[in-house]
Amino acid sequence: MLQNSMDSLSEAIDYYINGKKHTDERCYKFCIFMLYHSTELILKLILYREHKVLIFENIEDYKESDDIKTIGFATALKRVKKICKVDFGRYYNYLEDIANIRNKFQHYEINIEVDALIKVIISTFSTIEYLIYNALDTHFDDFGDLISREQIEELHSDQETYSNRKKDIVAEIKLKSYQKVTFEYSLDKHIPIPCPKCAETFLVFNDSSIKCLYCGEKYNSIDDLYSKDKNCIISNYMERELSRREIMFDELRECLNCSYRTLILDNNIWKCAACGTECCDDELRHYAYLKGKEDWEADIADMMEDPHYSHLWK
Ligand SMILES: [Zn+2]
Ligand SMILES: [Zn+2]
Repeated sequence: MLQNSMDSLSEAIDYYINGKKHTDERCYKFCIFMLYHSTELILKLILYREHKVLIFENIEDYKESDDIKTIGFATALKRVKKICKVDFGRYYNYLEDIANIRNKFQHYEINIEVDALIKVIISTFSTIEYLIYNALDTHFDDFGDLISREQIEELHSDQETYSNRKKDIVAEIKLKSYQKVTFEYSLDKHIPIPCPKCAETFLVFNDSSIKCLYCGEKYNSIDDLYSKDKNCIISNYMERELSRREIMFDELRECLNCSYRTLILDNNIWKCAACGTECCDDELRHYAYLKGKEDWEADIADMMEDPHYSHLWK
């Protein structure tokens, strides 16, 4: 089911991109058929995971025959909401919209404005991402060859899809009262910490872990976030954000641990926004002393190896 759903999604993305490239309305129409199919299968998969009989129209007939009728889109949507208790928020309307527009096409109503088509398409892309990350609790990387990361990135590089997805996430954070993951640089003043995987600032606390609402990645803790910042997304972002606010700090120092200029003094504690290190004044001084000593010893060692200074050691 997931394979077919991702095949359709992959085709939908291609149709959408081509529709834009060649301003070809037919592409949007095919895109809508593909998206409808993809979402229907995702809804069925959510039901199937809850219990396999839920995808059949007459649950009581199950087992009697192999070819009993499975449910359609509308019933699947209702069952996912009522039985699986998926909290759809605004995505419920989006799903109704794609079903309506697809039914219109099915009945040969073809006079639909391109803008209206695009609106339904980008809302459905957003809904699919929401369902994959939240209701199915997985992400696209787990699907291997079913859908490529390049395709998802291509979709996100489309300005309309990207800003619509972000708007939906902001609404989701508000609706579910999620607490965002931030660096507090002074009382009640926060800078959101970006996701080390996708660089978006949509990390929220969820149960006992941290989740990225944009790419679906999960982290155990803030330490875990920092430890996964291999591409220096957090460090670079924090250095830039703090330097923009430099006037607010008595001192903005270079961190002895990560070397970024992201160390600030907050309530007698030195905190680094780039690597998460915290230390008190004494520790910092001691650390600075050791570091200075280390650097000094390294300089001496370098000098001793440098033939230019060889006369000094004789
Ligand atoms: Zn992310
Ligand atoms: Zn640091």
